[in-house]
Order: sequence, then C-alpha cells, then structure tokens
Amino acid sequence: MPNPPEKFVVTPFEVRGTIDYDRLRTLFGTQELTSELLDRLRRISGAPLPPTLERGVYYSHRDLAELLTGYEQGRRFFLYSGRGPSGPMHLAHLIPFELCQWFQEKLHVPMYVQVTDDEKFWLRPALDRATTYQWGMENLLDILAVGFDPKRTRVFFDTRSVGTMYSLAVDVAKKIPYSTVKAVFGFPPSTNIGLVFYTAMQTVPCFYPSWRTGTQVPCLIPCGIDQDPHFRITRDLAEALGYPKPALLHSQIIPGLSGGKMSSGSGEKDNAVFLNDPPEQVERKLKRAFTGGRASIEEQRRLGATPEICSVWALWRSKFAKDEPEFQQITNDCRSGALLCGDCKSNLIARVNPFLEEHQKRREIVRPIAESLILEPAPGSTGPHGGPPLPSP
Ligand code: SF4
Repeated sequence: MPNPPEKFVVTPFEVRGTIDYDRLRTLFGTQELTSELLDRLRRISGAPLPPTLERGVYYSHRDLAELLTGYEQGRRFFLYSGRGPSGPMHLAHLIPFELCQWFQEKLHVPMYVQVTDDEKFWLRPALDRATTYQWGMENLLDILAVGFDPKRTRVFFDTRSVGTMYSLAVDVAKKIPYSTVKAVFGFPPSTNIGLVFYTAMQTVPCFYPSWRTGTQVPCLIPCGIDQDPHFRITRDLAEALGYPKPALLHSQIIPGLSGGKMSSGSGEKDNAVFLNDPPEQVERKLKRAFTGGRASIEEQRRLGATPEICSVWALWRSKFAKDEPEFQQITNDCRSGALLCGDCKSNLIARVNPFLEEHQKRREIVRPIAESLILEPAPGSTGPHGGPPLPSP
C-alpha cells in the first residue's frame, strides 16, 4: 500500500501545513542536532549557546560532528549565509546571521555573506536592476549590524563580485546538468536562463576559500530547513570538484504573524516585523499577531494556551527572552494560563522596539565599512585567482 500523503509541504519555495519536524528530517535524510553535539559546542566555544541553539530553533544538521572534529584538530572552517534582496529584511531573516556571528566571535572563523541581487532580478519580473541593487546595499547594512568582525568578513555582492566569482562559477556550471536544477527547482520551460545559471553563482562561496588557497577549507551554512534542497546540489558537486562538502545547520521555520512562514515574499506586509518598522507599526502588528491562545480570557485561565503554534512565542524563543529562566517562565505561564496573550504581546513589544532602535544605530556604525568588505577584482589583477585578500584566519 502506498504511504499516506504528508500533511505538510516544505520546499525552498513553499511552506504549508503543520510541520512534523522529526518526519521532515527523516524525509530529507538529515541528522538530529543531539544534546551531545550541543554539549560539544558548549565545550569547544567555552560559552553558553545562543538562544536559537539552546531552545531548539536549530534542530537538524548535516556533518556538523565532522566539522567540529576537524576544528578540534586545527582545521579551520568558514561560515556562509546569504540574502536575496527584494525589500526590507524582517526579524526572521536575522536568525542565520546571528548564529554565524556567534560562531565567528567564539571560534574566530571567517564569514562570507552573499547578496544575490542577480537572482532576485531574474526571479521577480516586477523588480528592476536598480531596485535589487539598492535593496542589496540596504540589506547588507542590516546583516553587518549583527556584529561581524570586519577583519574576518567578506561579501559577495553578485553583480559587483562577478569578476571575482566567475572563473569558479564556470567550473561549477560545467558539473551541473540542466536536468538537476529542473528537477530540484521545478523550472517551467518559460524560466529565464539567468535562474538556471544562478545555481552556479550560489555554489561559488561554498568552495571559494578552497579554490583560492588550493587547500581544503570546510564550510558551515546555517539555514532554514526549507533551504536544504539547494545545498544538496552543492554537496553533490563538492565531491565532483574535489572540495569539502559544506556542513549545514537547519532551523525550524519561523511562523509569520498571521500564520504560515514569516516571509516578505507573501505580499502580506503584516505577516512580519521588518527591521525598519517604526514603533507604532510594530505595536499594531504584534497586537494583531496570531497566537496559541483561547477564545476567551476565562477559558485561557482555565485551560492554558499552546505556545508551539504561537507566532509571539516564536519571537520570545528566537531571541527576545533574555535568558533561559525567563524563556521557561513565559512558556510555563502560557501553558498554565497564568499569562494572557494581551499582556504577553505588550511585554514583547517592549522588547522588540528597543531592539530595532538599537539595530538602526548599529546600521549607521557599519555603514562606512560596508563597501570595503565587498569582494571585487583588484584593479589590474590577472588570472583566475585575481582578487582582494581573503579575510584573516
Ligand atoms: Fe502566545 Fe503569549 Fe498567548 Fe502564550 S500567552 S499563546 S506565548 S501570546
């Protein structure tokens, strides 16, 4: 008898239904992020884990144990994460970058950011080049405001860095059959050929340090589990090109304020708190947010609420609860009915607005250095490895 259909859909382009995360891990063939691995990370870093690791937002991985073993033996890795610039960034967009910043600070490893303004231009018919470029520069400030060390951070801004990336992209593109991208991304015949080539551009950062240095430099990519299919292609290519397979750390999907995935592509601006939302907008959005609460105060006091389905709880969990005791208290009080949704939302608004205010100040601090981190071919550089120096190890 065939297996019954899954009750959820998770792809790089669509997230739908109530996700059974253990089942999803089995379907994708990824590994569980066990408490033993987390203990190892605590020991290696010599520091408490960040909230997203401590509270189970990151729950799955590929080859993290091997990466850490290599690190303990003196084999440095680097971090890679990216952003497709089509508009302002929201709170959930920061999650992989915040984890990268933690790794960089604790393990002193380089970070590569990719701004894929080419992909967004190819993907969204309504966007012109100037718009994706401008959002790329704006988003880059949001990313750097997370606190990366400029000495250990470099940026691939695709339309500007292509001279640095192209030789490797050519090698990569030769190893990707059209049938692979068609099968993974479901491209219809009308797809423009830019999107077909883009898989090569997205793969370049994963191998770039190995290619530039002629050594095997492992890569770690924190990302949402919905993005795993992208990197399955990259991991298969790694073997074909003789580079280390990138390791992955997968987060659960951060729910949007009106349910579904927190997304700026849904066209629903109230589904997310954007980093440039003014305080009154944040208040309005969070007050209307989807919760796991009951129909009446009386019922909630009596039966308690369900934090796991609540978009407000997801934000407490991602970073706004200041420590583990506070997070446990919010969760327990929600479940018992001691905490009501209105109060819980007001408390969260009082945390989110100061965070955004501080974030805007940090954006201005990094503004003067952002340009200097973009990888572009040095004037007069020649040969396939021409380009600016790599970040300090
Ligand atoms: Fe969500 Fe808070 Fe209501 Fe619990 S009390 S369901 S965490 S809003």
